[in-house]
Amino acid sequence: MAYRELDMTISKEALAMQKEAKRFAMEVLRPAGIALDELHNPEDVIAPGSILWDTIRKYREMDLHLSGFPEELGGVGELEPMAGILVNEELAYGDVGLAISLGVSAMPFSLAANMPDPELRELAKAYCEDRRGKLIGCWCMMEPDHGSDWILSAQPGFDDPEKVGVPSVRAEKQGNEYILNGQKAAWVSNGTIATHGVVHLNLDPRLGMRGDGLAIVPLNLPGVTRGKPLNKIGQRPLNQGEIFFDNVRLPEKYMIVSDPSLGTPMKDLTLIGANTGMGILFTGVAQAAFDEAMNYARNRVQGGKPIFDHQSVRIRLFEMYKQVETIRAFSRRVALFNVTNNDPMQGLFPSGAHGMALKVFATETAFKVASEALQIFGGNGLSREYPIEKIFRDARSSMIEDGENNVLSLVGASYL
Ligand SMILES: Cc1cc2nc3c(=O)[nH]c(=O)nc-3n(C[C@H](O)[C@H](O)[C@H](O)COP(=O)(O)OP(=O)(O)OC[C@H]3O[C@@H](n4cnc5c(N)ncnc54)[C@H](O)[C@@H]3O)c2cc1C
Repeated sequence: MAYRELDMTISKEALAMQKEAKRFAMEVLRPAGIALDELHNPEDVIAPGSILWDTIRKYREMDLHLSGFPEELGGVGELEPMAGILVNEELAYGDVGLAISLGVSAMPFSLAANMPDPELRELAKAYCEDRRGKLIGCWCMMEPDHGSDWILSAQPGFDDPEKVGVPSVRAEKQGNEYILNGQKAAWVSNGTIATHGVVHLNLDPRLGMRGDGLAIVPLNLPGVTRGKPLNKIGQRPLNQGEIFFDNVRLPEKYMIVSDPSLGTPMKDLTLIGANTGMGILFTGVAQAAFDEAMNYARNRVQGGKPIFDHQSVRIRLFEMYKQVETIRAFSRRVALFNVTNNDPMQGLFPSGAHGMALKVFATETAFKVASEALQIFGGNGLSREYPIEKIFRDARSSMIEDGENNVLSLVGASYL
């Protein structure tokens, strides 16, 4: 059965974008993701000539990187919210690791687009014009000694350096520059290939984890070095790696949040946005797992008939279908609200409780559906000949990505 869309309010334009995104996801992202996943050495994922670079170029040639950027900088302005949601569901359907890499790549440049400084706006413009993948962004929050710590901002002691310590990456003001020292974790997505990072850093050690600010850091500044690409279980096409800062001199115009009392609210909003996005992406992953299982069940013959005709398989598939449809309804609803209510200057705030509930629920659902799909494949589910074991591994990673799910549940509870 072709997927039956229940939302009768979706515009023709949004449906057309969804169709294009699905084509790109299946013709470009899915095969590239499988090829990159099979590479034993993560260095090969980012080697010159890797299909990763083609993928980035094709994405940019389709202008998919321009959404949200103002037209005067070469962007296409804000997309109709539902169009953005549908496009991201589809990209993740193709390959979620690549979808995340392509999405996070925009972060420093979209921040730059909203700044008054002409040089920063020029940087955003250069990103819009870049169809070759020369400019790549990343989001650097986690550190070797501060993972969950960073996001539990409502926990007692968050502002007490004796209890929780302080972020490792420190920025000290000297004249019209900041001097950066410290290290970001191996988990930074696009960490070893990014040209620019959005970096959360410590401005005032007396305030513990609360004394943070936010900077856009050009990663070609003297003193910036990288670790090796991380080798991991899932989302292997997504490059990740450490970034080190050793007396890096950052001109002050790059410090976007220089008031330590504003760093934590800004970080909390970023976390809600990122995890709302995760809900949409992992709806796409859950759908991909369901479709693989459905297709396999119709074709695999056992006991003289396709396994879909065995009652227990039908019931399991219907249970998966129920879960995917539930998470789709929830993710679209939360995302529509959070995307349209995200302008604190105008008094519009996204819902943190819904954002966290969505991320936890969507990633758990994607993992459960992928696990059940793998079971329906029988022995073939364990084989690398079939795509389901990869989808299963990709979904498993998501329950730790952008905040471990138990910790995000604590964050969500703090909003109740
Ligand atoms: C695929 C992927 C992509 C990622 N991309 C990025 C990225 O682009 N940028 C970035 O900065 N980070 C990124 N991360 C890092 C991710 O956000 C962290 O891995 C996550 O927040 C958990 O931190 P940690 O790994 O240090 O685990 P820890 O914080 O060490 O947690 C380990 C365990 O202890 C538990 N725990 C820890 N503290 C508490 C507490 N106070 N209360 C209760 N339980 C607690 C946790 O629940 C968890 O089970 C990514 C991670 C993954 C897997």
